[in-house]
Amino acid sequence: MAPFRSFYSPEAMTKTISFLLTLLLLPGLAQAQHPLDEQVPVRGLSIAAPQPEHVDEFIAFMRDELIPRNVNTLLLRVDYNYQYNSHPELRDEKALSEADVKELVAVAREGNIRIIPQINLLGHQSWAGTLENLLKVYPEFDETPHVEMPEEYKWPNEDGLYCKSYCPLHEGVHEIVFALVDEIVAVFEADAFHAGMDEVFYIGDDKCPRCAGRDKAELFAGEVTRIYNHLAAQDVVLWIWGDRLLDGRTTGLGMWEASMNQTHRAIDLIPKDVVINDWHYEQAVPTAPYFAMKGFRVITCPWRFVDVTKAQLDQMLTYRAHATPAMKERFAGMMHTIWSGAKPFMDQFYGRVSSENARGGDQVAAFKALFEEIGKLESQEGGE
Ligand SMILES: [Zn+2]
Repeated sequence: MAPFRSFYSPEAMTKTISFLLTLLLLPGLAQAQHPLDEQVPVRGLSIAAPQPEHVDEFIAFMRDELIPRNVNTLLLRVDYNYQYNSHPELRDEKALSEADVKELVAVAREGNIRIIPQINLLGHQSWAGTLENLLKVYPEFDETPHVEMPEEYKWPNEDGLYCKSYCPLHEGVHEIVFALVDEIVAVFEADAFHAGMDEVFYIGDDKCPRCAGRDKAELFAGEVTRIYNHLAAQDVVLWIWGDRLLDGRTTGLGMWEASMNQTHRAIDLIPKDVVINDWHYEQAVPTAPYFAMKGFRVITCPWRFVDVTKAQLDQMLTYRAHATPAMKERFAGMMHTIWSGAKPFMDQFYGRVSSENARGGDQVAAFKALFEEIGKLESQEGGE
């Protein structure tokens, strides 16, 4: 009698139905998902977009190195390296054409890589002694026009000049930068945009007629929210670096990888579906749970030390293994950051120049180590 009864039992029916559903859904799932998605959903690389003359070499690099390593996210720092039609005056002298970008988009699609373009908004409007294009062409947007660009840049300096910022309350700035954002999102056919927003030292300057005396956390959060709303209207997700949301004093993290200018309270003022890129390069500081517990998806970002990089991956895996379902999905993965141009990185990668950089770091070795470790997870998975 037992077999007869079990044939009609609710459990058996449920099993049969779910088995049939699996058969129906499997082909679609198999295409969309990768075995590693369970352990490390985002497996990213962040790098400057290639110069036009290096697009072909970069495409070969994507095919030969990124796709076989199961990289599924490519953050390309584009800034002014695109032939913008909305504001041709902001183009770099040499800049990617639409055809160049479409080649990158095609190979990314072929390898299931999601490209996320970046333009630095708010901060990083200059680098060392050089103004970036926005403030070069529109000096009226400068948050600190009284700070002159030095002949020879040195850190530290009297002005505390690291990078210039635009004034987030200037009435003309968003119309221009949003036109660039819309164009770059469209040409890359992107569903996410990275606004940078790291290392903003100049914000709410005492001499700015619009920002003086305002709460810096509110200014920062206001700008994040404004960009977020602009993108959300087009179903595009906002990614930012996380350092301005960490308290540099209490954590001892200091002014670079955290905030010493009171912007950190913005963590409670911005929309929760902004994706946080939590970068730490000298040690595997466990800040990801802080972001996750605040409700954000957080991606951990290493750079140049192999041991730090491996420790960060281990942490991510541990957090996911022990988290509640609600928290688990917020530990969204890893993104390796490369702070050189695409061409110098490829030269380092293929041993044409040394990849060792300051303090014994090696960004190529760290990149390779990260994806080697991630690859091992796949072979473990394969045994099941
Ligand atoms: Zn201002």
